[in-house]
Amino acid sequence: LTPDEKRVLDEIEEKNVDFLRLQFIDILGTIKNVAVPADQAEKAFTEGIYFDGSSIEGFVRIQESDMRLKPDPSTFAILPWRKREDGASARMICDIYNTSTGEPFEGDPRYVLKQALERAEEMGYTVNAGPEPEFFLFEEDDEGRATTEFSDVGGYFDLAPKDLASDVRYDIIAGLESMGFDVEASHHEVAESQHEIDFEYDDALTTADNVATFRAVVRAIAAQHDLHATFMPKPIPKINGSGMHTHLSLFTEDGENAFHDGDDEFDLSDTARSFLAGVLEHAPAITAVANPTVNSYKRLVPGYEAPVYVAWSDTNRSALVRKPAARVPAASRIELRSPDPSCNPYLAFAAMIHAGLDGIENDLDCPDPVRENIYEFDEAKRDEYGIETLPSNLGEAVDALEADEVVLDALGEHVPEKFMEAKREEFGEYLVEVSEWELDRYLETF
Ligand code: GLN
Ligand code: MG
Ligand code: MG
Ligand code: MG
Repeated sequence: LTPDEKRVLDEIEEKNVDFLRLQFIDILGTIKNVAVPADQAEKAFTEGIYFDGSSIEGFVRIQESDMRLKPDPSTFAILPWRKREDGASARMICDIYNTSTGEPFEGDPRYVLKQALERAEEMGYTVNAGPEPEFFLFEEDDEGRATTEFSDVGGYFDLAPKDLASDVRYDIIAGLESMGFDVEASHHEVAESQHEIDFEYDDALTTADNVATFRAVVRAIAAQHDLHATFMPKPIPKINGSGMHTHLSLFTEDGENAFHDGDDEFDLSDTARSFLAGVLEHAPAITAVANPTVNSYKRLVPGYEAPVYVAWSDTNRSALVRKPAARVPAASRIELRSPDPSCNPYLAFAAMIHAGLDGIENDLDCPDPVRENIYEFDEAKRDEYGIETLPSNLGEAVDALEADEVVLDALGEHVPEKFMEAKREEFGEYLVEVSEWELDRYLETF
């Protein structure tokens, strides 16, 4: 056993942990669990825990279904929502291996992200990521099912008593902190019942693990308050949707921020500019992964602080990428504003990182920032500035992904085919549906 693994075994003993949840994530971003008695921990470290991969969305065929989970000891955390008297539950996030070859499973989103980080490392960089997940807290009905009824009427940065949910938010933050999160900020968002909790940036793998954990913690603690937390990108039409702005920077081996350049007007180094250019170049394909649901595209429309146009800016929030002001060199970063919290964070980060690294490798030229409100541009003006538009629905996004070698490669050997197949099916199902809006509009007119 490694020292880290030994430390976990000690902690299991000390904290009276009786159950371990071994977690992994499927291609669509859903957390899966295998619960084992805590006395299996040592075996999980040395041999791994076997499971049937064929029952997991997007994984493998029946004939080759035996997979092995190997827990990552650095992700050990006590789950905050179980009563402690009768023993605690803890979780660890796992890597997935093929039992037949003993190799990492190509379709494991965590492995896909690790490959991106390995490429960065070969180029001399570590990657930091910091997300700003937004979500709604809705009332539950009498049977405990989700509704879309607002749980409060607060607005951006409102305080109590209008922000009734601040109690819930307090509990969520306490839960997150007990699991080792460093919560930087939390506030009521623009829309009624909408919230944002930002946690400290970290290396991209830890951050992706954190996003997956975050969604589970928020939902579980909201449910204890009889509220439904949703990360659906646009639950209510005509008000802001929920995004997950993602801040990215590269650090060199000696801990310097490779994005910082104090002499540059925007505090962006050449490395940062090429990275940014890569992200812009591959933005349509990244969208398929960062905005992977039919509903994601109801958020990416003009007028609600969500991006529609492929451009960057140091000031305005209608652009896809923003360069936030940095108080210290370490804080120089770019903020990608398209991702939404329905994405698989591992795959989304892998796509962004490879796109950026590709920009660096190919020394791509960064366009000028656009400081005007791009929502107000007409097509002629967008053409004049050379501004592309993001895909306007899931079908277009998947087409853009299929046409983009760089982002396809970013997702590895196994994921693209399964992902595109699942997403095309999802979009196809949506296309044949008849919506409330259509009935309202046409039923009596025709
Ligand atoms: N909710 C907005 C979005 O969809 C972002 C609002 C904000 O954080 N300023 O991305
Ligand atoms: Mg924010
Ligand atoms: Mg926000
Ligand atoms: Mg932001």
